[in-house]
Amino acid sequence: MAYIVTSLCVDCKDTACADVCPVECIYEETGGAAKYKNQLFIHPDECIDCTNCEPACPWKAIFEEDEVPAIFKSAIEENRVIADDIGSFTVAKVHKGPAPTADQVAANYKKHGYTP
Ligand code: SF4
Ligand code: SF4
Repeated sequence: MAYIVTSLCVDCKDTACADVCPVECIYEETGGAAKYKNQLFIHPDECIDCTNCEPACPWKAIFEEDEVPAIFKSAIEENRVIADDIGSFTVAKVHKGPAPTADQVAANYKKHGYTP
């Protein structure tokens, strides 16, 4: 089991999750999004299920694997790609910006067709 970053992270990438991960298992694509979505990913074999990242994500983009909403189920495989193509990724560097407002979070949900 592992925690999963969903598409709600796309273009947000504020790295609040990476700031609280004790094992540095949250990655970004080296050189920016070229092959994969512009988001961070959790290495499923390195995540120790500490739970830190889920509440830390201001965009509410992270879910425990069993609780990933149906609309984001493909994210489980998209995070798995880390293990299969680790050469394309590097541990995410922390560069936190201002937290989004509740309206911005709601607008991001809507953009992705997600109703919590
Ligand atoms: S805290 Fe959430 S939105 Fe920010 S980079 Fe991590 S998963 Fe993406
Ligand atoms: S649950 Fe813990 S170990 Fe897993 S990605 Fe989140 S912060 Fe890192």
